[in-house]
Amino acid sequence: MSKNLEQQKKDNLQPRPPVVVVLGHVDSGKTSILDFIKKTKVVEKESGGITQHIGAYEIEHNEQKITFIDTPGHEAFSTMRSRGAKVADIAVLVIDSAEGVKAQTKEAISYIKKAQIPIIVALNKMDLPQANPEQAKRELEKIGIQAESLGGKVPCVEVSAKTGHNIKDILEVILLIAEMEELKTRGEEKAKGVIIEAYLNSKRGPTATLLVREGSFKKGDIIGAFSTYGIVRVLEDFQGKCLNKAVPSQPVVVVGFEKVPRVGEKFQVYSTIEEAKKGLGELKEKRTREVIFVEKGKKVLNLILKVDVLGSLEAVEGVLKNLPQEKVIVRILEKKVGEVNEKDIRLAKSGKAKIFAFRIKPDAIAKRLAERENVKIISFDVIYDLVQAVRTLMEKLLEPEIVRQDLGELKVLVIFKQDKKRQVIGCKVLKGEVIKGVIIEIWRGDDKIGQGKVVNLQKNKKETGRGSRGDEVGILYEGEGLIEQDDILVAYKENKKKGEL
Ligand code: GDP
Repeated sequence: MSKNLEQQKKDNLQPRPPVVVVLGHVDSGKTSILDFIKKTKVVEKESGGITQHIGAYEIEHNEQKITFIDTPGHEAFSTMRSRGAKVADIAVLVIDSAEGVKAQTKEAISYIKKAQIPIIVALNKMDLPQANPEQAKRELEKIGIQAESLGGKVPCVEVSAKTGHNIKDILEVILLIAEMEELKTRGEEKAKGVIIEAYLNSKRGPTATLLVREGSFKKGDIIGAFSTYGIVRVLEDFQGKCLNKAVPSQPVVVVGFEKVPRVGEKFQVYSTIEEAKKGLGELKEKRTREVIFVEKGKKVLNLILKVDVLGSLEAVEGVLKNLPQEKVIVRILEKKVGEVNEKDIRLAKSGKAKIFAFRIKPDAIAKRLAERENVKIISFDVIYDLVQAVRTLMEKLLEPEIVRQDLGELKVLVIFKQDKKRQVIGCKVLKGEVIKGVIIEIWRGDDKIGQGKVVNLQKNKKETGRGSRGDEVGILYEGEGLIEQDDILVAYKENKKKGEL
């Protein structure tokens, strides 16, 4: 290519809006930040705001556009990246400034580093009195993220998703970084990009959200991904409004693929169907039913997962895989996109499984059948809630742990009555307390003489529930070992603690 032509091509470059992904640990406030921005910054079209979760949205700040990937968390991000697609230009790392850096924060940072994109730290929950942004920054510094205020390069913005404080500053920093990164594109070329959401719509057929990375396309264009191809029959923006043209950094909904593509696949526009077919990759069929051999002694939680779109399925599976499974195994009997149906209920019944419905409802027949067959359908809109519910069910399968709680120490002053099993003694409470019904150990020096129960407890010759430090109490003891004067009695109780995974 001659210098001149090269220059011409360069001149053709147009700036494009940045695409932003939001990462951070569970509960740091990713969803809240995304929701706040959506609520305040989406320019409403006639169709009336965002009605459907399509995986991304566009906002305008100071007349400049920003695209946000609307699936928070690195699970979704890594699924997309695992298929080799570059999804975002900038990452916002959210940290709960009252809690600081957590294991998941480090994970998120490693994802961002692998993607080689600039990072902005949002120190969230600044409205909380215990917020400590300086501490969080020091913790970040230890893991290689140096804040600007500490002499580094990473912008850190103190925000509150609850009050909206400084959220616009994040948008400004995003725009500033975008300007510095000089995000450019040749808008007139054939489009290329990433599938960020895909599902089968019962009326429209395979429906996908595409993020245009470069170039543009319009209705009627031939489009191909890794697993399928088609002709763009419907082209809409993220608010469901018909579009003439999809442009760089824009999230758009496309109907027209032959099959449902997978989240994270790259797509591009072709001149002919033949070319698009040539671009298809070889798909290894994923098995939906997995066989897991269960080790003896391990418990199993059987699940059926039904979700709204493929992207959710991958994200849900990703987080479920991260649950500790040393003691209880999570076995997914079936995972599919679509409503909970009769077949799912029957499988749940025969497989003793719980059905988890993510952003989806059971159809009417399934609902009735579930009630009749006593099959539980648990519905969720937030991945974190689903994971918490799975965790709780797993914990329920575990035997409770017995945890000893020491209550007090007593010194034996006098023996009133003694036979083999029952002894009546007078003691002084030296430390803590003694409670009727608790267990007592008899100690003589370093030797344990026996163990039994406080069957009855008296103070000043009256029955009582407890004796505290300094009290002299009478105890009816039932158990092993003959008590002697000056023995030390240790009172304790056993608490049941739910098993930990
Ligand atoms: P995610 O798991 O990172 O998406 O976190 P969420 O957005 O779901 O927020 C987790 C919890 O923190 C929710 O109970 C929110 O209401 C709360 N939260 C989020 N942002 C803030 C904030 O700025 N201030 C306070 N006080 N609470 C917040």
